[in-house]
Amino acid sequence: MTHEIAVIPGDGIGSEVIPAAIEVLEALEVDFEFTEAEAGDHLLEAGREPLPEATEALAAEADATLFGAAGETAADVIIPLRAAVDSFVNVRPARTYPGVDAVKSETDLVFLRENTEGVYAGHEDDLSENLSTLTRVVTDEAAERLAEYACEYAPEGFTIAHKANVMRKTDGRFRDAVARVAEENDVETDEVLIDALAMHLVLRPEEYDVIVTPNLAGDVLSDLAAGLVGGLGLLPSANVGPERALFEPVHGSAPDIAGEGIANPSATILSAAMLLDYLAEPEAAERVRTAVEATLEAGPRTPDLGGEGTTEDVTRAILSRL
Ligand code: ATP
Ligand code: MG
Repeated sequence: MTHEIAVIPGDGIGSEVIPAAIEVLEALEVDFEFTEAEAGDHLLEAGREPLPEATEALAAEADATLFGAAGETAADVIIPLRAAVDSFVNVRPARTYPGVDAVKSETDLVFLRENTEGVYAGHEDDLSENLSTLTRVVTDEAAERLAEYACEYAPEGFTIAHKANVMRKTDGRFRDAVARVAEENDVETDEVLIDALAMHLVLRPEEYDVIVTPNLAGDVLSDLAAGLVGGLGLLPSANVGPERALFEPVHGSAPDIAGEGIANPSATILSAAMLLDYLAEPEAAERVRTAVEATLEAGPRTPDLGGEGTTEDVTRAILSRL
C-alpha cells in the first residue's frame, strides 16, 4: 500500500531538517507518495497567506503530514493544520540517549496532551479598559477521547496530571472523565497535581512514564522535560486525530542558526519514526530509531549537542546505519 504523505517544510531550519527526514523515509522498504506544500513567514513576506488553502486541504486529505516549522506565523499555520487533521492529542515523548548530556539521565517520559481546548480554546475578552478575561473550556468529549487514546497507548497504566483541587469544575471534569474511561478499560491510573509534578520532574523524572495532561500544562511541562533530556534538537511530536495525523519536531524555525546547515535533524527524523508507527510500519520505525540512537551515541553530532557535524553529516551517518 502506498502512503500519501503531505510534506510542509515551512521556515528556517524546517527546510533543512525536513529533506533529511524524507531521505531517511525514502531509504526504507515502504511505499510513499510525497506531496510538498508551502506555509510560513516566507509566504507572508511575499504578500501571500501564511497558510494557503491548498496546503490546509492537502493536510486534511493525506494519510499523514510531516511538518517542519513556522516562524512568526506559527500560530496562523500550525493551529489550523492541527485542526485540519482533527488532532485531539499531542504526543510528546522526551527521553535521554546514551552519549547525550542531560540534566537527568534515565528520563523516559511521554506526555499525552489534550490538544483542542482548555485555556487555548481562545475565549479571551477585554471587558473594560483595565480588565481582561479568559474562559476555560473543558468537555467530557475531549477528555474521553484523550483517555481512550491513553488507554490504547499505555495499557499498563498512566498518570493523570491536573489541578482539580483549585479548578474543581474544569480540571475536576477532566480528571473524572479520564479516570472513568480508564476504569472502564481496566487501565490503572494515578494522579498528580500539576505544580507538584513540575517539581517531581526535575528531582526524579524516572518515577514517571506516560502522563496525561490538559492543554496548557502539557505544553509547559513537555518543554520542561525537553530541557531535562538535552534540548530541542531531539524531541519529536505527533498530533493525532481519528483518521489522520501530523508529525513535527517540537522545536521551531530556529532563526539564529537557519541557513548554516548545522540544525540537528534528529527531532524531525524521530518524528518520521512516529509517522511510521502511526502508518502501521513498526519495523521500519524501529530501524529508524535504532539508527538515530546509534548516531547520537557514536557521532557525528551537531553543535547543539557539542559536536562539529553538519545536518548533512548526521543525516549521512543515520542513513548508513539504517
Ligand atoms: P520560533 O519562533 O520559530 O520557535 P525560536 O527562536 O523560538 O524560533 P526555536 O526553534 O524554538 O527558536 O529554538 C530555540 C533554540 O534552540 C534556538 O537557539 C535554536 O537554535 C535551538 N534549536 C532548536 N531546534 C534546533 C535544532 N534542530 N538543532 C539545533 N538547535 C536547535
Ligand atoms: Mg520557539
